[in-house]
Amino acid sequence: MATLSRLASIPVTEVRSLGPKRAAILAKSGIGTIADLLHHVPRTYLDRSDKPPLARVQLGTEVTIIAEVKKIATRRPKPKLAMTEAVISDDTASLKIIWFNQAYREKMLPPGTQAAFSGTVESFRGKLQMSNPAVDVLDGGDEPLVTGRIVPIYPQVGEVKSGRFLHAIHNALKRARPIPDPLPEVLLAANGLMSRDLAFTSIHFPESIEQSDQARRRLVYDEFFRLELSLALRKRRQIEDATGFAHSPTGELSDRFVAKLPYELTGAQNKVLEEIGADLREGHPMHRLLQGEVGSGKTVVAVTTLLQGVEGGWQGAIMAPTEVLAEQHYLSVTGLLAQAGLSPEPFDDSSELGMDSLFASGRPAVHIAILTGSTASANYRPGITRQALLEDVASGQIDILVGTHALIQDGVHFQRLGLAVVDEQHRFGVAQRVLLKEKADSIDPDLLIMTATPIPRTLSMTLYGDLDVSTIDELPPGRSPVETTVLARGQEGLAWKKIEEEAAAGRQAFVVCPLVEDSPKIEAASATAEQVRLATLMPELRVGLIHGQLRASDKEAVMSAFRAGEIDVLVSTTVIEVGIDVPNATVMVIEDADRFGLSQLHQLRGRVGRGSHQGICLLIADPSTPEGEERLAAVAATTDGFRLAQDDLRIRGQGTVFGARQSGMADLRLADVLRDFDALVAARKDAFAIVDRDPELSEHPELAEEVRAMLGESVEWLFKS
Ligand code: ADP
Ligand code: MG
Repeated sequence: MATLSRLASIPVTEVRSLGPKRAAILAKSGIGTIADLLHHVPRTYLDRSDKPPLARVQLGTEVTIIAEVKKIATRRPKPKLAMTEAVISDDTASLKIIWFNQAYREKMLPPGTQAAFSGTVESFRGKLQMSNPAVDVLDGGDEPLVTGRIVPIYPQVGEVKSGRFLHAIHNALKRARPIPDPLPEVLLAANGLMSRDLAFTSIHFPESIEQSDQARRRLVYDEFFRLELSLALRKRRQIEDATGFAHSPTGELSDRFVAKLPYELTGAQNKVLEEIGADLREGHPMHRLLQGEVGSGKTVVAVTTLLQGVEGGWQGAIMAPTEVLAEQHYLSVTGLLAQAGLSPEPFDDSSELGMDSLFASGRPAVHIAILTGSTASANYRPGITRQALLEDVASGQIDILVGTHALIQDGVHFQRLGLAVVDEQHRFGVAQRVLLKEKADSIDPDLLIMTATPIPRTLSMTLYGDLDVSTIDELPPGRSPVETTVLARGQEGLAWKKIEEEAAAGRQAFVVCPLVEDSPKIEAASATAEQVRLATLMPELRVGLIHGQLRASDKEAVMSAFRAGEIDVLVSTTVIEVGIDVPNATVMVIEDADRFGLSQLHQLRGRVGRGSHQGICLLIADPSTPEGEERLAAVAATTDGFRLAQDDLRIRGQGTVFGARQSGMADLRLADVLRDFDALVAARKDAFAIVDRDPELSEHPELAEEVRAMLGESVEWLFKS
């Protein structure tokens, strides 16, 4: 008898029939312990009780036959032809097998070998035979595990064949059983799950196919349950370690701001504002992801939230991933505040007005500033120096500070930072939160993370499972979805024609150049060449260029010229991917679109159609793989970002999407977040409920032990006090 945690510490070499040589092969595929071995589950089963004995095999049908090799030999009737012939038999009859140019079969199947042969039975010169069947060798030990039962067929690993696994796992189970069950009785009952011991036994050696399905269900649940337990523990830990505080929004600024907007908030915007508002009033820090399609109005929600903090006496920060985006956030927040009449009087030397506190001048005013590596500016004093700005932040003069990550790294010190909005950084992790806390004199500011990259529920429940999620699932009225068309390389002329038409109507366009992985230099060079080419091709248009190698100030200059309509066509690398807001841009051309990921294409497309004019997206590509073709078709078919994120997961698979060693995800060996979504939901609910009642898992020591043993280092910190 051994617990799963214990089995996770016993090397496979301790299993009879797996020596050091095979163990080394398995280790390369991540099978190092008995627990790993037990999770190497069959890829299919042969129901031997159901298989016709040889004597009753029917001509012309696909069958799988389990039989023993009696004779095998290879002849070479012609120089380029090797014919390997074998006679196989079970207790009822024998059959001839022939393989063409597969001479290795002779070595693989010496007489006496038990194997499963799958193929079509034919008649040749009056005798039954099977040619080129697929073979799973079942041999590898001394026990008759293949007669009269359901036979597991394992994925081969290196030279370790199915039959070897069959015997090794049989031995491993003998050694491990009974495997105790850490899951509380009530959860087993509520979810209709079999015991762990039965699950491991019957995923490998089921009495019926239906029993193997039930076994799989149990093991899948276990994987999700462990992952969700670790997430629930982490979340709990964050709450406990946090020094939070409750905001006390008065509505003085935020209500006024909302009232002065030239439009009504959408239902979805109001809904997320309520969710956020409830968090703000709570004593523990908010840690919330705000997701919504490009153009769904997240900025307005963020500003309203920041104002709720400011009116209660706190400072706020907005962090963007790049300087261009920080600049743009600064412009849009300044604009929104001005429109609501919340801007301070502009600073002039003869008056002290600009330096007044929030309400001293008789009307409320919000002081906002931007700080990046290259910019320092404030709406109450445009020419402010970097030094003066830092002093104003430290003295609490500045209410909202916009910037890049430099905000939480440089010599910036806030007087009373209460709220941080982070744009497009869903991996804003533990380390960054620690920095944020340092900026705020050891209190934990509330944190709102915004993203336009939709995260399907499968992911927000796993990868980002310790975040709360709010979703703006509705676009402001009157938007029409971007029209997307895929063009083959030869048809690209149509794209330039479209750009010229739109430019003639006063509109603007983006042309995004191919992604060059790991080489921003080459990428920049090819964008530069494309600008020259397009400028010659469309001489009457003004063609601009922006790429990641430009200095920040140059990038900003190009962006302002584009915003001001002084550039018709902006050739760019992917620097424009997130957040760029130029409502007059209507065409997005993406070259070599098959080299981009699904969500990236969707993001890029979101840059157009932001105004009242129809947005057009043209994807130029000659996809070289069916997968590339499928991705392009998916983007063209829908503008629903959640659908696309889901498609992406389906097309690329969870292994690729999650990355190899993403915390805890490596434990998902049987479970698939898409296929087993219902189990994920159930396991999450159960895991969070347990941690709610028993935050340290002190009443469930076996569960705690198992999370630790199975999820490894990524959860180690949870258990340090
Ligand atoms: P996001 O940041 O989610 O991409 P923005 O906040 O930039 O979206 O909003 C996109 C555009 O929609 C902006 O021009 C904004 O003024 C406008 N907008 C936001 N909310 C509404 C609304 N409720 N009704 C109409 N227009 C809106
Ligand atoms: Mg935005």
